[in-house]
This record gives sequence, structure tokens and C-alpha cells, in this order.
Amino acid sequence: MGKLSIRNVHKTFGDNVEVLKGINIETSNDQFLILVGPSGCGKSTLLNIIAGLEEPTGGDIFINERRVNERSPRDRDIAMVFQSYALYPSMTVRKNILFGLRIRKVPKDEQDHILKEVATMLQIEHLLDRKPRELSGGQRQRVAIGRAIARKPALFLFDEPLSNLDAKLRVEMRDELKRLHQRMATTIVYVTHDQIEAMTLGDLIAVMNDGQIQQLGTPQEIYDNPANLFVAGFIGSPS
Ligand code: ADP
Ligand code: MG
Repeated sequence: MGKLSIRNVHKTFGDNVEVLKGINIETSNDQFLILVGPSGCGKSTLLNIIAGLEEPTGGDIFINERRVNERSPRDRDIAMVFQSYALYPSMTVRKNILFGLRIRKVPKDEQDHILKEVATMLQIEHLLDRKPRELSGGQRQRVAIGRAIARKPALFLFDEPLSNLDAKLRVEMRDELKRLHQRMATTIVYVTHDQIEAMTLGDLIAVMNDGQIQQLGTPQEIYDNPANLFVAGFIGSPS
């Protein structure tokens, strides 16, 4: 279970480059939240602030009602998947998936159980003994997602996880992520610049531009009632 609150978050880089200008989002439990907007609008910065990789200049982040501003990324009950799948090249798929559990000294039989569950869910049972270099791009991204799932975090953070994949695989992985979210009952925050991806995956969509949320709503609300010309133009145009 996971719930995220973002309250009046600001971020200024250097002296006066204001990249986030007061962001407010409250999710209910176990939503698929999308941050969508054009390149440079501040999506990754916001995600990095949620993760604890960047410090906000102002405002607060709550995960499951707990203020996490001063907590390190490791202490936030989150898992993050990036566009470039950062797997450990010298480790097998099995070891990559279990790495976080071994560090936390999760008992061996529980590790085995989780590995089996994750491998089945992502259909990577046959890849467990391979090294990352022996995998295709789509397989690597599955393993990266598997490693995140194995930690069973309250919050999953995805930064354009499919943008390096070809179009066919992207659609496949999109459907898979949707199913995963339904099975796992957890909150996902998902960054994309792709309107179609946003509208098909999201329960709640934050349309961003220039460091501000232009509209926060369900796909239906945004589609039926765009808040302004920017939203109408952005959602209505092909990516
Ligand atoms: P998006 O993910 O929506 O493409 P980013 O959050 O990466 O956008 O970046 C938003 C803006 O902040 C961009 O103009 C970018 O150049 C700027 N920016 C991001 N990180 C830094 C940084 N570490 N120092 C200075 N400017 C940055
Ligand atoms: Mg980005």
C-alpha cells in the first residue's frame, strides 16, 4: 500500500533558475500517478525530489503520511526504475533481483519465494542465470522492474522507463505495467512525455508545463474538460 502527498514543492537551481513553482499532488491509496509534460518542464526534478535524490528548495513530501524530507533515498520505502536500466553487469539476473534483499539480510527461503513470484510475474524464469549483456533491451528492462518489485516498496518511481524500447515492445510493456499495478496494489509515479502512454496508464494525471501543474485529473476529466489551451493542445497532439 502506498500514498503520496506533495505539498507546495519548489525547486530553484543556482541563484534563480526556478524549475518547480509550487507543486501540489495528493494521491489516494494505490494509484497510478502520471507526470506528463514536454521536455524540460521539471518532471524528472520532481521525481528525484520524491526519491530523495534532490532536495526541494521549499515544501514537503509525505509517503504514507510520514514526512520524508530529511530521509535518505534508502529510508523512504521507494524503488526507482530509470530509462537506462542500471543492472549490475557482473551479476546474473537472479543476483540482480535479489541484491536488495541480500543487503537487508532477508531470510534465504523468503528470498527464494520472492524470486519465484517476481520471475513468474514478469515471465523471466528462463533468464535467471544469464548476465545482463546476454539480454535484449526489453528483457533488461523487465529485470530492472523485477529488482524494484522484489523490494516491495510503498512507492514505485519510474522515469520514462520505456523510452529506449522500440514501438512494439513499448506497447507490450505498457500493458504489462498496467497489469502489474493491478496485481500489486501499490502506488506508482510514472514520468513520461508521451500523451498516449499517460492517458492509457494513468488513474491520475498531472499535466505539467514550465514547472507548474496545468491540470490534475483523471484521463476522462482531462480529455473531456482540458483546463486551458496548453492542456488541450498538448494532450490533443500526437507524440
Ligand atoms: P524533464 O524531466 O521534464 O525533461 P527536468 O526536471 O530534467 O525536466 O529539468 C527541468 C529544468 O531544470 C530543465 O531546464 C533543466 O535544464 C533544469 N535542470 C535540471 N537539473 C538541473 C541541475 N542539476 N542544475 C541546473 N539546472 C537543472
Ligand atoms: Mg526527464
